[in-house]
Amino acid sequence: MISYGKQTIGDDDIDAVVSVLRSDYLTQGPAVTAFEEALADFCGASYAVAVSNGTAALHAAYVAAGIGPGDEIITSPMTFAATGNAALFQGATPIFVDIDPATGNIDPSKIEAAITPRTKAIVPIDYTGRPVDYDAIRAIADRHGLLVIADGCHALGATYNEKMVGSIADMTAFSFHPVKSITTGEGGAVLTNDRHVYKTMKQFATHGITSTDLQSESPGGWYHEMQLLGNNYRLSDIHAALGRSQLGKLNEFIAKRRDIAARYHDAFASVTEIETPMADDSLYQSAWHLYVIRLAGAAEGKRAEVFAALRAKNMWVQVHYIPVYYHPYYRSLGYQKGHCPVAEKWYESILSLPIYPTLQPDEQAYVIETIKECVGHQST
Ligand SMILES: *Cc1c(COP(=O)(O)O)cnc(C)c1O
Repeated sequence: MISYGKQTIGDDDIDAVVSVLRSDYLTQGPAVTAFEEALADFCGASYAVAVSNGTAALHAAYVAAGIGPGDEIITSPMTFAATGNAALFQGATPIFVDIDPATGNIDPSKIEAAITPRTKAIVPIDYTGRPVDYDAIRAIADRHGLLVIADGCHALGATYNEKMVGSIADMTAFSFHPVKSITTGEGGAVLTNDRHVYKTMKQFATHGITSTDLQSESPGGWYHEMQLLGNNYRLSDIHAALGRSQLGKLNEFIAKRRDIAARYHDAFASVTEIETPMADDSLYQSAWHLYVIRLAGAAEGKRAEVFAALRAKNMWVQVHYIPVYYHPYYRSLGYQKGHCPVAEKWYESILSLPIYPTLQPDEQAYVIETIKECVGHQST
C-alpha cells in the first residue's frame, strides 16, 4: 500500500528517544526546552511552546489571543476541523471565508466583508504547505486591529518572501503528527515573537500554574499559583527528543518532497484530466505537505470513481478536505452548505497524491502511471 503521507524515522531518531528513556526526566525535563529552542531558532521566531498536538497548539494560541465567548475568528473551510473546533472550545465562533481557487488558501479579497466588531483574529491555513499571502492578510489585520494566528500545521519548512512560516504571523501553530513535515508521534507547537503571549501559552499548557510572576508573596519554595484555567497540554521529553532529532533533517525532508512535487508536475503537465497545484516561485516556497490535484476535462465529476479505482490498486489517496462546515456537528450549529461556493466546488474535484520523503522513484513512477490510468488518460 502506498499512502498519501508517512513518517521518516531513522536510527538517530530511535537513539534520541532511547536516551531520554534512560535519563531522569520523561517529561518536564531538558529535552522539551532544547526542542523549543531549536524550533524557534529554525523558524527565526523568538519563542516556541511545545504542546501535545496541533489542536492544543491552536487552542493555546486562541487563549493567548484572549479569544472567548461571543468572539469570532475568520478562517477558511478548506482545513482540518481542529482549526474551527479550537475556537468553539473557547465559546467563540469560526466564520468561514472562501478560498482562492488557484491555491486553496483563504482569499484575502473576501476577508474584510466577514469582519465584525466581534472579530478577534484571522486564522489562515497554509494549505498543502503553500504559504498564504501574508502581506495582504497582515494589511487587513492591521487596518482592523486583529491578530494573525497562522494554522501552519502543513507548512513547517515553508517560506514566504524568504521568511520562514513560524516567524511571520503573530502566532503560528504547528502539528507533529506522523504525516506532517516532522513528527513526534503526537505533538505540536506555537511560535511567537511576543513574550507575553509566549508566557500565557506556556502557562495555559501546564494547568495555568506558574511558580514565577506570582500574584501573592511567596511563603516558601513549594509555592506556586494557578492563575488561569489551563490544561495539561504538555509534550513529553520522549516526544521532544524525537522532534529535535527530526528537526535536524527537516531541510532534507522538504527537499525530497519538493523533488517529488516537481516530478509530478512534469508528468501531469500535458494530462488534460489533471490540474496540478501551483508551483513554487520566488515569493511562495511550499513545504509540500500535500500534493493536491484537481480532476478536470474528461475526468471532471468523476472523483468518487477515480478515488475507488486508486484505492483498489492499493493507492491510499485522500481528500483534503471536506469543507469543515459540512460536518454534522457544524450543521447542528446552524452552518449551511452554499456558504463558500469556491471551496465547495474545489472539494468535489480534489485528490491528495502520495508525497513523503521515503517515497521511492519506482513508487513515484507507479503513482504517475496509475493516476493517469485511473483518470482515463489516453497516452499518445
Ligand atoms: C494536522 C492539522 C491540525 C491538527 O493537528 P493535530 O496534531 O492532529 O492535533 C490542525 N490543522 C491542520 C491544518 C492540520 O493539518
